Amino acid sequence: MGIEVLKTCIGCTKCVTVCPFGAISMVDKKAVIDLTKCTLCGACVSVCPVKSIVISREAEKKDLSGYKDVWVFVEFSDNSDPKQQGEIKKVSFELLSEGRKLADKLNNKLCAVLLTDKNRDYEKILSDYGVDKVYLVENDEFLPYDTDVYSTAVMALINKYKPAVFLYPATYKGRDLAPRIAANLYVGLTADCTALDINKDGLLVQSRPAFGGNIMADILSPNSRPQMATVRPNVMKIEKRKSGNVEIVKEDIKIGKNIRRVSVVRRNKEEHTGHVKIENAEIIVSGGRGLKTKERFDVLHELAEILSASVGASRAAVDSGFIDKKHQVGQSGTTVRPRLYLAFGISGAIQHLVGMKNSDIIIAINKDPNAPIFGVSKYAVVGDGYDILKKLIEKLSERKEKVGN
Ligand SMILES: Cc1cc2nc3c(=O)[nH]c(=O)nc-3n(C[C@H](O)[C@H](O)[C@H](O)COP(=O)(O)OP(=O)(O)OC[C@H]3O[C@@H](n4cnc5c(N)ncnc54)[C@H](O)[C@@H]3O)c2cc1C
Repeated sequence: MGIEVLKTCIGCTKCVTVCPFGAISMVDKKAVIDLTKCTLCGACVSVCPVKSIVISREAEKKDLSGYKDVWVFVEFSDNSDPKQQGEIKKVSFELLSEGRKLADKLNNKLCAVLLTDKNRDYEKILSDYGVDKVYLVENDEFLPYDTDVYSTAVMALINKYKPAVFLYPATYKGRDLAPRIAANLYVGLTADCTALDINKDGLLVQSRPAFGGNIMADILSPNSRPQMATVRPNVMKIEKRKSGNVEIVKEDIKIGKNIRRVSVVRRNKEEHTGHVKIENAEIIVSGGRGLKTKERFDVLHELAEILSASVGASRAAVDSGFIDKKHQVGQSGTTVRPRLYLAFGISGAIQHLVGMKNSDIIIAINKDPNAPIFGVSKYAVVGDGYDILKKLIEKLSERKEKVGN
């Protein structure tokens, strides 16, 4: 990989002002790049009005020996005020728990990457999840989230400290950020991994469904670093582990306001029905095509009300117009991990199972005793889904009246 300034440079100096590393200066009205400071972050390429700065990214045999440690990108939740930092998202703890296991297998450190307006003792929270080191960058420009701002900072950290493995949450932000970094660094990225491991050669094994979910593919990135993967919320289990002393590496990365090419003009908050979003629900009552009609499917909402649950659905139920897509559980919907998952008239196709099989207790109701969903369920009820749904509502309502709540 390399960078060069073409003769067509018009000396506008825009690249000088955006370079976070002070690597560009003007000599005889032409931009000159100091290669000892440049991290190939690409900020200058984006602003050059005459496309005179070029980064070449041919695949080349790299010396990978200096790359070590497992990094996790820590994501914060959005606040109603985009200028206020939210809490660390649960998915970050899931990734740190998994990252800890990978780091142990590699005999490496587990490192958290924290981009924030201000550190609020986050290392204390992260120390419950086995974090050895925190790479901390504080800058007001991190609020609100912006692809260019975040990718510039993360690439600077990667180029300087060289992680072997880098995990991102498969959230809106993670799915936006990780591909940008992968493309800029010319490294691989495996999206929506359902399992991660280290093989005998010390490579990250990134497993995910392939070919419509019909096979599991194990993907390796032997020739590039970092080995990068995204993992959806609720896929990995949170396992707390106390860290020793958490080392904080504070990096000062200059981020000019003009790096931000997109401004958010309005935010529309989407309303959702049910008690909580399905990804956060403790109880989910889910229905499939076996419920036959929208009217019958709608009865699930009554059960959800009684159990303070959220309503989920198979893709066939969504495609049949029974409920909106945001309730879909599975490979092309949401991955869930509730304490209780009730499935009415859902066959248990692999694409559905990958999204709910980690639920603590699964109760499946299906008229077919050989339905694949029974393979993952703790309790199997063979019978008509709608009849059983009605009876369950009746019994639970009676009980609620007796108990008085
Ligand atoms: C790339 C790809 C991505 C996909 N992503 C998803 C996804 O995210 N989520 C998802 O769910 N699917 C997904 N699918 C679709 C998936 O393959 C199945 O087609 C879908 O899950 C089937 O939904 P279902 O079980 O409701 O319907 P069906 O497969 O039609 O099953 C209906 C079930 O209801 C039972 N039944 C029928 N009548 C009754 C009754 N009276 N009482 C009780 N049980 C009854 C039947 O025995 C059957 O088991 C995806 C497919 C592909 C190719």
